[in-house]
Amino acid sequence: MMFAAFWVLIWGVACTCRVEDETSAQAPVEAEADVDDTLAAEVELEEDRVGNGRFPRARRMRAEKARKQRKAKAIKQAAGVKRKLNSLTTEQMVEAAAPTHAFSVNGKPRHVVLVVIDTLRADVVAEVDTPIFDAIASRGSVKKMWTSSTWTAPSVISLFTGSSVREHGWRFPFPAQMNAKKHTYAKLPDVPVLAEVLGDAGFVTTGFYGNTLLHRRLGYNRGFKRWRFVGDRRLPSVVASEVAVWEEGERHFLYLHMFGAHQPLRPTAESKEKWGVDSKYIVPGKGFKLKKLDVKDKAGVEQYNLAYRAVVEDVDHRLGQVLAALGEHRADSLVIITSDHGELLGEHDVLGHGSFVWEPLTDVPFAVDGGGSVPARMTTASIADLVTRSVGVEHTWPVSVENPGPLVAQREGKIAFSTDGRFKGVWDSKNLGDGFAVFDLKKDVGETAPLGEEKEATLMSSRSAWESQVKEVHLASKEEAMSEELILALQELGYME
Ligand SMILES: [Zn+2]
Repeated sequence: MMFAAFWVLIWGVACTCRVEDETSAQAPVEAEADVDDTLAAEVELEEDRVGNGRFPRARRMRAEKARKQRKAKAIKQAAGVKRKLNSLTTEQMVEAAAPTHAFSVNGKPRHVVLVVIDTLRADVVAEVDTPIFDAIASRGSVKKMWTSSTWTAPSVISLFTGSSVREHGWRFPFPAQMNAKKHTYAKLPDVPVLAEVLGDAGFVTTGFYGNTLLHRRLGYNRGFKRWRFVGDRRLPSVVASEVAVWEEGERHFLYLHMFGAHQPLRPTAESKEKWGVDSKYIVPGKGFKLKKLDVKDKAGVEQYNLAYRAVVEDVDHRLGQVLAALGEHRADSLVIITSDHGELLGEHDVLGHGSFVWEPLTDVPFAVDGGGSVPARMTTASIADLVTRSVGVEHTWPVSVENPGPLVAQREGKIAFSTDGRFKGVWDSKNLGDGFAVFDLKKDVGETAPLGEEKEATLMSSRSAWESQVKEVHLASKEEAMSEELILALQELGYME
């Protein structure tokens, strides 16, 4: 009896949690049978040994064994799913990306899938073909979305802590400068993070990240039951095997940080051809030769622009596979797609995302499905509040959806500030002649024609008003050399020479 019931349970879980038929391939029948038979035999053996499961330890062992077996099965299935995901057409992925809602927790989504695509510019996403992003954005978007900082580390901290850089205090420079001073970073500030808040509310929290900056040493894993590095290429199949073991009644928070359009750019052959990226700029397996590119080399910069656009389209395709991998869970999920910062593609004579707060870095894409109404303007800092209120979890974050405050992006003392998304004040003593200027983003997209004193005075007083309301925090770095391992990882990302 026990044996039969157990087998039905395992089989039932495997069936109900499968990625929908469209996207899943049958795992070899023989192999599946082997797994189940082995499990059944082991359970039977254990029954004999401990006597009908009256002992808690035996029950725990059985449950653990069953979990491992389900996992093994999910991994086998994932291989088939991966093949199927790779062959999905754009139309099939668009359909899977935005299904009819089936929200099962008092009319709210059961799961949260928060996708951050590294280094994505809002204007380029709007310009090129991104059918998957557009499908989500058609469900919900904002007029203007800024990142709270312009590189990964502080930006993700704003996302996790629901606060601006001024409030969380993590304002350290790029690794090379830290290393030169023999300093290393402080961990995430000791305030509640999104994964903890959702975890306390009963969510199973899992994070897969494709940018090595987000390693455990800095504490990004705080609140996550599992926090694992997964490259973008493997992400769809990893997500497929992840959701295959989700149990009935559970709620899940899945944080997916894709490497996205971060350098080194490695466009696929298909998009490389579509955008006319010249192969001489690409090192096979390593990507675009950005380090050797002079910003004054017009042809080279043009090629980098093309390669970036090609990669953004590739990333959208990958996003389609990731969302399809959610299978039936997609319809019962809050899905948010955004980025941690943009990229300068030659504007202001810069390539990359160095220490600036120009618009190509601050303006990031944002799309939400299942989150109710969103304000016209948001920053990365208001996403945590959007998530918790969308899934019915009560928590007060420093920045809320109802009162998102001004748009603020900060980076090592530089500040970009706007109350309306049109007039932007930039305080940057290093890269701006007078140290402060105001630009009209509607008429002057390139931020090259500063406005007069009147606008400056308005922006200055708005900034002072905000600062008087928001407490400033400074985290201290540690006097300690960075580990060799970390330095190597950062060098690979182009953060260090
Ligand atoms: Zn980043």
